Amino acid sequence: MDIIVCVKRVPDVAEAEVDIDSSGRGIQLGTLGYVINEWDNFAVEAAVSLVEEHGGKVTAITVGGEDDEDVLRRALAMGADEALCLTDPAFDGSDSFGIANILSKAIADIPYDLVLTGAVSGDVGGGRVGPMLAAMAGIPHVCLATELSVDAGTARVRHEVEGGLERVVELDLPALVTVQTGMNEPRYVSVLGIRKARRKPLTAAGAAEIGIAPDSVGPAGTRVTVEEMFLPPKGEAAEILQGDDEDTVAALVERLRQQGGV
Ligand SMILES: Cc1cc2nc3c(=O)[nH]c(=O)nc-3n(C[C@H](O)[C@H](O)[C@H](O)COP(=O)(O)OP(=O)(O)OC[C@H]3O[C@@H](n4cnc5c(N)ncnc54)[C@H](O)[C@@H]3O)c2cc1C
Repeated sequence: MDIIVCVKRVPDVAEAEVDIDSSGRGIQLGTLGYVINEWDNFAVEAAVSLVEEHGGKVTAITVGGEDDEDVLRRALAMGADEALCLTDPAFDGSDSFGIANILSKAIADIPYDLVLTGAVSGDVGGGRVGPMLAAMAGIPHVCLATELSVDAGTARVRHEVEGGLERVVELDLPALVTVQTGMNEPRYVSVLGIRKARRKPLTAAGAAEIGIAPDSVGPAGTRVTVEEMFLPPKGEAAEILQGDDEDTVAALVERLRQQGGV
């Protein structure tokens, strides 16, 4: 059972104050730390666990630069066998279609039964790369998986659908599954583990190696152009309660009483 898992390094925006940069089309990255995309952490755990159960190989792939190799080393430390960094100046500034296009060309040369991606990324959050990659690779896919098992050429996937419902579906392999957070408990990765993982193979490939025309990716191949990024105006109904914990809790209880909540 050979599994490809796509991982992305993202700015850690979860707890940070985010400001718009001077171009008005992105965020100021300045002091932000970088982490593996949260969803991808669950995808790597799923891939490694399936290979522990069935045998085979996990290959972690990212599209990015040298700094993005951090997330590949992390995936190797979690148990991935090999890593591939798709890196080329021509790839910079690609939109989701471009990223999926690059990934699809790269995986065409790698034998696989299953491709795992995160359901969404913590920075841009388009949720588009996985489904587009599946379409380009000509394989079935299912999104927002919360459980995943594999048996005799079939993947059985429990996944979220609209309205708070979940479904169980079966897909013929090879297939692509986008992973929701909470699917498993990603294993702990120590600094020592990351150092040891340096012995595992991490290779790089550019546009020429994967056979993609440089003008079909990057800004030249972009189909969605970011026009403007902004912090939405605060809603008029929003109220921030002031004071210490005791005051704010009392005020909150009062508001809930007034509105029939308690
Ligand atoms: C300099 C710059 C310019 C950009 N310009 C544009 C633009 O003009 N138009 C536009 O639409 N977007 C633009 N982007 C955003 C960029 O294209 C997206 O971050 C990227 O396409 C991934 O989309 P997403 O984050 O929505 O992925 P999602 O679809 O939300 O991510 C889901 C999953 O896809 C996989 N994945 C996503 N990205 C990667 C990756 N790099 N490597 C491996 N796997 C990955 C991961 O498994 C991830 O969990 C720009 C980004 C940069 C840094």
